[in-house]
Amino acid sequence: MVSTIIVASGNPDKAKEIKQIFGKHGFRIKTLEDFENVPEVIEDGNTLYDNALKKARMIFDALGAPVLADDTGLEVDFLGGAPGAYSARYAGEDASYEDNVEKLLRKLESVEGADRTARFRTVVVYFDGKQDVSAEGSIEGTITTEPRGNGGFGYDPIFEALETKQTFSEMTDSAKNAISHRGRALQNLYLELQQLNILP
Ligand code: IMP
Repeated sequence: MVSTIIVASGNPDKAKEIKQIFGKHGFRIKTLEDFENVPEVIEDGNTLYDNALKKARMIFDALGAPVLADDTGLEVDFLGGAPGAYSARYAGEDASYEDNVEKLLRKLESVEGADRTARFRTVVVYFDGKQDVSAEGSIEGTITTEPRGNGGFGYDPIFEALETKQTFSEMTDSAKNAISHRGRALQNLYLELQQLNILP
């Protein structure tokens, strides 16, 4: 049975969330910050699954322990699903969270409330050198007209969840994790891994 899993994320905000969600199942969770000489994985895939699988395989090859890798995209219906797999680099290769948020708000400037629907989608992949197992999670919401709240990261201040009417930035970490795309993807993955007898 697996006792340690490496979260293949260089993003400390995401690594913290994954640790909170998966760590409660009783095995040790390490992140890339626990290792030296970790290869940089360029997320150049066209789909969330491609990016997550690439990350999981590369980190397994480098560190030799089971890996969890996720990739997340924000899909805005009015923009035909953009930025999607390009969410991190929406406003350019070195874009900050603020740059991406500003660009999205600008693109939706003239768009009415009912047409501002969007969803976060996460694909998470487990890879242990022999098998890869994947699962998905998503949450529906709308893009607000201006940022609200102080918590979270990325597009959180402008994503209002349909079921709470709060932006992710207005919610506590645990409230976000309970309903978020990543939380749901990780729960679904955990069930898959249990059914396959990979995890207890
Ligand atoms: P990644 O490629 O999975 O790291 O995610 C791509 C981009 O999506 C990140 O740079 C963030 O801007 C955004 N993102 C990912 N997860 C979240 C989230 O839970 N809330 C808000 N933004 C997120």
